[in-house]
Amino acid sequence: MSSTAKPPIAILGAGLTGLSAAHHLGSDYQVYERLGHVGGHAITLEERGYRFDRTGHLLHLRDPGIRAWMSELFAEGHLRTIHRRSLVFSHGKYTRYPYQANTFGLPAEVAFECLKGYLTARETSWESAPANFEEFCLQNFGEGFSKHFMIPYNARLWGVHPREITAEWCSRFVPMPKLDDVLAGAVGLNDRELGYNASFLYPPTGIQELPVAMAARIGNVTLNRAPSKIDWRNKRLHFSDGDTHDYQSLITTAPLKSLIGLLDDAPAEIVQAANKLRCNKLWYLDVATHKPCLKDLHWAYIPEDKYPFYRIGCYSNFSEQLAPKDGACFYVELADRNEPDMATLGPRIARDMVEMGLIASVDDILFMSPRVIQFAYVVFDHDYFSTLDVIKPFLIENNILSHGRYGAWNYSSMEDALIYGRQAATSAREMLR
Ligand SMILES: Cc1cc2nc3c(=O)[nH]c(=O)nc-3n(C[C@H](O)[C@H](O)[C@H](O)COP(=O)(O)OP(=O)(O)OC[C@H]3O[C@@H](n4cnc5c(N)ncnc54)[C@H](O)[C@@H]3O)c2cc1C
Repeated sequence: MSSTAKPPIAILGAGLTGLSAAHHLGSDYQVYERLGHVGGHAITLEERGYRFDRTGHLLHLRDPGIRAWMSELFAEGHLRTIHRRSLVFSHGKYTRYPYQANTFGLPAEVAFECLKGYLTARETSWESAPANFEEFCLQNFGEGFSKHFMIPYNARLWGVHPREITAEWCSRFVPMPKLDDVLAGAVGLNDRELGYNASFLYPPTGIQELPVAMAARIGNVTLNRAPSKIDWRNKRLHFSDGDTHDYQSLITTAPLKSLIGLLDDAPAEIVQAANKLRCNKLWYLDVATHKPCLKDLHWAYIPEDKYPFYRIGCYSNFSEQLAPKDGACFYVELADRNEPDMATLGPRIARDMVEMGLIASVDDILFMSPRVIQFAYVVFDHDYFSTLDVIKPFLIENNILSHGRYGAWNYSSMEDALIYGRQAATSAREMLR
């Protein structure tokens, strides 16, 4: 194939960002996807009749344009609106999420410590803005909430101590209760769910329905194809079979760090900056049982170190079509970033699930499959913003639009991915003018 015959816009990746870019462009593009399927992280794996997303993938839509697009893709009511039932499991008890607005049900001394710390923090005149996420927690929630939930939970989720993380990222994702919420939640009066994800949309057979529906309406997606090298000076993709693609604009959703590795002879300062980018992998388990889940929850947060996981969710409580009749399927997100030794970990987790009242007996478990997400959580460390300030202008100058959760190197949602794709399409069109 001659490279001159190819469309002027090349898109790397058929995850939600790449597919959204293609949809919003409508023409003049070619998508290349490294893997044999579309969806990126938003996929559903099937094993012995059970269906598992790559841990909980719940859709929150705020943007009117994206909402309108979804209603074109799916018949009315197909995406079900689900009201979140999320809990926290600590001190051997379940309490409501978010922890900072729901101390009712905790041991009295723990609730007291949380409330006292919260009120003390409110009365304190802090001399400076929080320098890191630990300080953010202490200033906004106080010592008790920080000690019992915010610090240990976030250390387990992000894989690094909150001291290593900047405070800037969190305002959108951490529920910030008002004084009334904290007080009402201490006496069991909270009557509303707090936070950005109080309800969500979900397709009946798993989140993969979303990229599959998107891909069915766009053309020019080539699977199992990724460039071996990007000649950024000449705007040319090289493939290992000798084929090339000359582009005017390149939209890439590959992880930013990997993208820099693909650039042929990238400037030394860009390579050095890319070496500073940090991202944690995530090991989790798909767990299938031949009995229903005994708790009416969607997921639970687990802050205590004595449990090897920080979150457990029940897919079949999102949609009963995800498990065979009378069975259930779960995701168990592990705090340790190393490959799990299932011979010791499996029985331990089975016992913990019994202790948490999710299943009646360890014998209810049919299988546990460990899975890994190589790029899961970008670390917002103290070099984060300065590093991106070096890399991003270089890419833009060279007509490379690196978008998406890992392309832009951030913490963002599926709706964000759809919005990033739309933005990338607009920018790519401008580059053609
Ligand atoms: C554990 C976890 C839980 C999450 N839960 C939620 C949730 O509940 N709700 C929510 O809204 N969001 C959630 N997200 C976020 C959501 O998964 C992402 O925001 C979204 O899927 C990102 O889409 P993307 O297209 O930007 O990236 P990706 O999904 O990573 O897609 C990128 C695609 O590019 C391909 N690719 C990579 N390199 C190349 C290359 N060189 N050439 C060609 N193709 C390439 C990859 O194979 C992949 O298909 C979660 C994410 C994680 C990790």
